[in-house]
Amino acid sequence: MNHFELRDGVLHCEDVPLPLVAQEVGTPVYIYSTATMQRHARVFKTALASLGEPLVAFAVKANPNAAVLATLGVEGLGADVVSGGEYRRACAAGIPPGQIVFSGVGKTADEMALALGGGLFQFNVESLAEAEMLSRVATSMGRTAPVCFRINPDVAAGSHAKISTGGAQDKFGINAADLMRAFDMARELPGLEAHGIAVHIGSQLTSLEPLKTAFTRLGLLVAELRAAGHPITVADLGGGLGVPYDPAAPLPPSPADYAALVARITAGWGVRLVFEPGRLIVGNAGVLMTRVVRLKEGPERPFVIVDAGMNDLMRPSLYDAWHGIEAVAPRGDDMVADIVGPVCESGDTFARARVISRVGPGELMVIRTAGAYAATMASTYNSRPLAAEVLVNGSEWAIVRKRQDVEALIQGDIVPPWLHTGGRAQGTPGPGGP
Ligand code: PLP
Repeated sequence: MNHFELRDGVLHCEDVPLPLVAQEVGTPVYIYSTATMQRHARVFKTALASLGEPLVAFAVKANPNAAVLATLGVEGLGADVVSGGEYRRACAAGIPPGQIVFSGVGKTADEMALALGGGLFQFNVESLAEAEMLSRVATSMGRTAPVCFRINPDVAAGSHAKISTGGAQDKFGINAADLMRAFDMARELPGLEAHGIAVHIGSQLTSLEPLKTAFTRLGLLVAELRAAGHPITVADLGGGLGVPYDPAAPLPPSPADYAALVARITAGWGVRLVFEPGRLIVGNAGVLMTRVVRLKEGPERPFVIVDAGMNDLMRPSLYDAWHGIEAVAPRGDDMVADIVGPVCESGDTFARARVISRVGPGELMVIRTAGAYAATMASTYNSRPLAAEVLVNGSEWAIVRKRQDVEALIQGDIVPPWLHTGGRAQGTPGPGGP
């Protein structure tokens, strides 16, 4: 459920008519609903209520905007971060360090030191080499790093290959066969306290079956580790629950069904559970609003060319993702069109042969379910500045990320002194310079 609805023929986010935002902020613009995010955080937490006091750590990668993180922080969510940048963003948004999980396969020594210095709930460690590095960093700082080893359960997630992470061929996690060695090693290494195991098999999962398999494997490993004398007090079950993008597709499992599965499988584990939902919390709490630039005749149907491009929302070109696309003020008659952006790639296509309400130049449209893995994956390809982001709360709304200025793009480049183009900031001499 979400809070983007037609009222008197015009799409609103909560109580705010979207044309008002377009008029004040321009397009393309991401618009997020506070009420939808709150609802999803509450529904998820309520579903898990029978599971003790789980840590629900929002996967910051899904949407790292400070206003989004602050909204979720107020709801009591922690953060799952995968870089020093995400760690700093989570802290800056007021997430308590004790509720931060640091995941990711390529943590650097600097990132480890940053999180050890500021504090965190745990590092999810993905290899023996990473454990050794973390031990060195922690001992050099006189700290003990709380560690959860992420396993690779070798489970096919059934999701898009690029967002499936739990197969043996994927780069993530430690093979079950090496897990005991990891725990034995962590016991010997100074500066580490291995207290749990983690799993995350992929994103946009539309069936509970692969999760059931992965969690069951995790349970067996908890028992084996305990039998070998390793005290396991935490099990991190990752994120991954899908959200409905296409209303014609079967609904993904509900948080209640997911929680019932978790309760069944983890009964008797005697651990604190950790969850890392991302998409589920913010996916349909956001839309990307765009304006039609022009219509162009195509061989079979018209192209509706909009002012948002694949640089703003990569999911269709990267994952062939399906997004709902609608007119902000539908006229009541339909057309079939390809909806495309202005970027110079054929992949800059949001939808093909899509039935939409008839639109013409200057009219507003929204691309739905754009709250997760959307603004955060944007680029400035084709020298298109990053879109603005807006947060709505009832009848209030605020710009929560300013539209990037093209001048900022130009200024970011440095012309080296030998080019002497004049007028522009000159680069500082590099190592081979004077
Ligand atoms: N945890 C980890 C380690 C991830 O890599 C991801 C994203 O793929 C998530 C959590 C969040 O997944 P989702 O947004 O599907 O809930």
